[in-house]
Amino acid sequence: MTREPIDAAVLLEELARIDSRNPDLSPDSAGERALAERVAQIVAGLGMDVRLIPVLDDRPNLVAVLPGVDSDATVIFEAHLDTVPADAGTREVRREGRRLYGRGTCDTKGSLAAMIAAIDRLSRTAGPRPTVLLACAVDEEYLMRGAGQLATELPSADVVVVGEPTSLVPARAHNGFLRFRVEVLGRSAHSSRAALGVNAINQAARLVLALDATVGERRRASPHPLAGHALLSATMVDGGIAPNVIPDRCSVLFDRRVAPGERPEEALAEAYEAIAQICERESITVELPEPLVSLGALETPPDAVAVVAAEAAASRALGRDVSAGGVTFSTDACCFYDRPDLPSVVLGPGSIDEAHGSVEWIELDDVDTAVRIYYDLAMTAHTIRQEHR
Ligand SMILES: [Zn+2]
Repeated sequence: MTREPIDAAVLLEELARIDSRNPDLSPDSAGERALAERVAQIVAGLGMDVRLIPVLDDRPNLVAVLPGVDSDATVIFEAHLDTVPADAGTREVRREGRRLYGRGTCDTKGSLAAMIAAIDRLSRTAGPRPTVLLACAVDEEYLMRGAGQLATELPSADVVVVGEPTSLVPARAHNGFLRFRVEVLGRSAHSSRAALGVNAINQAARLVLALDATVGERRRASPHPLAGHALLSATMVDGGIAPNVIPDRCSVLFDRRVAPGERPEEALAEAYEAIAQICERESITVELPEPLVSLGALETPPDAVAVVAAEAAASRALGRDVSAGGVTFSTDACCFYDRPDLPSVVLGPGSIDEAHGSVEWIELDDVDTAVRIYYDLAMTAHTIRQEHR
């Protein structure tokens, strides 16, 4: 093979310079297409069979396959293409020594670049080697609709590595999430004659506090050992049309984290039942539109090939015993909760503390270490499958 090996740090700098801010969060952004197209070009050069799959308007997922050699194992590397918005402090991509600054460097183009470099190494391995897929998703930072589509298309695998900043320590559990709106209905009246109306904002306030005292209290009392609390929080409120009108409508948005072992529809049913009881007791009238998003948790068993291979690869690279734990944030792995044949671990360079902040950066040495971990993980998955043949 004559082509130059991919240098993950150089690749990351190039990918970070391609604007892929999520257009639902940054309306002036063109979205993920330019990044998807550039990645498609690069991985096609590695001999991968690559497809761009439409998900949202001009915002495609990418799925690429490198066929295995003498192996039953399949490893999927998954990373999201989009980033959160960038302000002045994160817009500019710049390198200082072995540190790269800029939006997306840590979340999650560092993982993406390392995955591509690891696949490059795998493609140079004559064999045996596992079948490897690269799956890149749009819209992780908003509604995870890219990964939602991947869940309907990806083949079964031994390991799905979801690339997110975990400081190179694999995670096998995190919460999912559910977002639903409650429309509280009242009756409008002139505010000088308030008694003629029913104040929807007052009713919503009663509902929010009563719900927090029941479901909220129950959630605070029962953290998951790896994923932490799966709380119910009122996160947005909207009501009223004028300063002197008693509002006839108040809309409250709730965010409920979904714990491992729990199904999102159960979490929703729990909330709806509590709401029904409160409404009955307090004479509150509500409408409950379809939830905005409903995604389950990640919980991969500790003895799964995915977890064992990730722990082994990370332990070797970091020179210490690493065991997979949990993370407090949610990832695209939420979309695979109904696909036990896609056992996932979240694993990537960089710290979540550096993601989404007004300064975002990543250590390039950690990106290089991630390349070794990803490569080793894929080869270990092959070996484990071989032993269990
Ligand atoms: Zn991310």
